[in-house]
Amino acid sequence: MKYLVTGGLGFIGSNLCRHLSRNKKNEIFVIDNLSYAGSKTSLPELKKRKNLTHLNCSILQKNKIKKILLDVKPDFLMHLAAETHVDRSIKGPRRFIETNILGTFNLLEASKELKQIKDNFLFLHVSTDEVFGDLGKSKKLFTEKTRYSPSSPYSASKASSDHLVRAWAKTFDLEYIITNCSNNYGQFQHPEKLIPTIIISAISNKNIPIYGNGLQKRDWLHVNDHVTALELIAKKGKRMETYLIGGGNHLTNLSIVKKICDILDKTKKIKKENSFSDLISFVQDRPGHDTSYAIDSSFLKKELMWSPNMSFDKGLEKTVNWYLDNEKWWKPLLK
Ligand code: NAD
Repeated sequence: MKYLVTGGLGFIGSNLCRHLSRNKKNEIFVIDNLSYAGSKTSLPELKKRKNLTHLNCSILQKNKIKKILLDVKPDFLMHLAAETHVDRSIKGPRRFIETNILGTFNLLEASKELKQIKDNFLFLHVSTDEVFGDLGKSKKLFTEKTRYSPSSPYSASKASSDHLVRAWAKTFDLEYIITNCSNNYGQFQHPEKLIPTIIISAISNKNIPIYGNGLQKRDWLHVNDHVTALELIAKKGKRMETYLIGGGNHLTNLSIVKKICDILDKTKKIKKENSFSDLISFVQDRPGHDTSYAIDSSFLKKELMWSPNMSFDKGLEKTVNWYLDNEKWWKPLLK
């Protein structure tokens, strides 16, 4: 199978390419423009595995994108390239509008042409549960039927790109699937994101910043479980469907910080005098910060028999140990 993965040198993309390239029968082409969030060091397998090729290209370069799609003729376009950090989208939304909306538009336009010469081509659009907005105090979970109500420039740009995919599919007869996944964590996540920030702040003996009261809840999924879901959905998922992917770990930010501090307090890898939880520091909340997201993945579980393999506690311990052992990877990415 031929996969074209956009954003394949970012967090989820690199883990997806690593996973797919283990099967020597797969050929994987990675489109990534090496933005601040993408790095070849996230996919060292590029040097070792013959079935992995990086094409340095922005999804905003429409002619180049079209040429790549028509040359490669992938069976699956797995679209992950995006600007992804909510705080950056508040400070400077333009890039999010350009990359996430216009970039997706360029890929859809190129896909229209590819479809003329290739049957069974699938556009798999990787999106987020943030498009549904805030659950607030409601005990309801997001489902495939939940109304879109994005709160941040990031989630609004992703919601827009989801709409474009559905509209292009309907009007131009493209085969698509959209996935909306909850918060991912695991190896190779950029140091600016929540879990790496907590770990790196703690081991650098700096304050661990928590927005507001820290009681915002998110559903967490280990990235390895996300990428196995994406492969399964691409191969076996119903075309023209949406799948919600979640880990069933609905936790407050504060409880995650405390869990990480407990893991670090117990590890023998670093010297410490006091508990790492002494470093917790509450900072001004993010504007428009959603209080709760939670996912109902029962459609995916029932249809495709998928379920996450990694328990949150085990996954978190693995992740903390990975950051302790891989300073060489994350240090150069710090601002
Ligand atoms: P990331 O920021 O780690 O990686 C994004 C990648 O896209 C980087 O390698 C970057 O270089 C590349 N990129 C950015 N602009 C580009 C452009 N113009 N052309 C080509 N490449 C470009 O993001 P991530 O966390 O791996 O997320 C990947 C996708 O999954 C995104 O679409 C995101 O919305 C979605 N998603 C992420 C999460 C999560 O928790 N991280 C959850 C659900 C959905």
